[in-house]
Amino acid sequence: MTPLLEVRNLRKYFKTRYGTLHAVDDVSFTLEKGKTLGVVGESGCGKTTLGRTVLHLTEPTDGQIFFEGRDITYPRKKELRKLREEMQIIFQDPYSSLNPRMTVSEAIMEPLILRGGMSRDEMLEETRSLMDTVGLAARFENSYPHELDGGRRQRIGIARALALKPKFIVCDEPVSALDVSIQAQIINLMLDLQEEFGLTYMFVTHDLSVVKYISDEIMVMYLGQVVEKAPSDELFANTLHPYSKALLSAIPIPNIHKKRKRILLRGELTSPINPKPGCRFMARCDYAMEKCNEPQVLEESSPGHFVACCRYKEIMNS
Ligand code: SF4
Repeated sequence: MTPLLEVRNLRKYFKTRYGTLHAVDDVSFTLEKGKTLGVVGESGCGKTTLGRTVLHLTEPTDGQIFFEGRDITYPRKKELRKLREEMQIIFQDPYSSLNPRMTVSEAIMEPLILRGGMSRDEMLEETRSLMDTVGLAARFENSYPHELDGGRRQRIGIARALALKPKFIVCDEPVSALDVSIQAQIINLMLDLQEEFGLTYMFVTHDLSVVKYISDEIMVMYLGQVVEKAPSDELFANTLHPYSKALLSAIPIPNIHKKRKRILLRGELTSPINPKPGCRFMARCDYAMEKCNEPQVLEESSPGHFVACCRYKEIMNS
């Protein structure tokens, strides 16, 4: 079956006055329709740039992007317009992505107005239906974003993303700014919407615990590169890369009798500007050796589980 999205050797570099910043460096993955890919890493690892490049909010430096089998790496204007409907984004901070002068219904209606082709009454009806779909009570129709809590504001962001009936949504840290209890509500809503509309998500976050419940597959990124990729359950059961292990160790276990040893990341973050060919995690890795200076390639350790660390077998058995 043709995947909904396929990314091959994608690179996004930025020229800076200090050299070339390798924000996304040779990233490849496929994403089946109706599935969720979690993309995890610290801030600056390239995960947001990856999402934005796939959506053509910024142009790729190299590589290829396929959507439903079509090469969309360099789309023409008309194709890009269509893609803008099929591929959407939900932002981390709905407050800053919403116009404070627009009411809830105006904000949700905006994408419909921009696309055109519907009467005012049809758009209003559609807006009310979208509010209902995302669990926003009709009484908020004329409220302004500052009058609502973070969860409701994020529901507006989700309704806006859904307005044009997309197939694929990049969710860029959609729950990071929310309280834990509201995070769960929004994630449950996103799961329900995925089932109802057959949506495909790329869920970008710094928090591994958040993606655990929503992702079919998880990709861990470090300084622009994928260091580990596996089905969600497999990644949590058999974490292989030292960086993924450190991220995992930061997740609290909901059991007072059990404790997980937190792995603290020490050492300086390597600069993503003109990076050396070896492992980019080397400066912070307790297992670093001479051979880590060689470029690290993703190796399949078990079906569907890839890791870019030349020492992962030794580490596993130590
Ligand atoms: Fe650590 Fe070396 Fe593996 Fe990089 S390649 S994660 S430095 S052991």
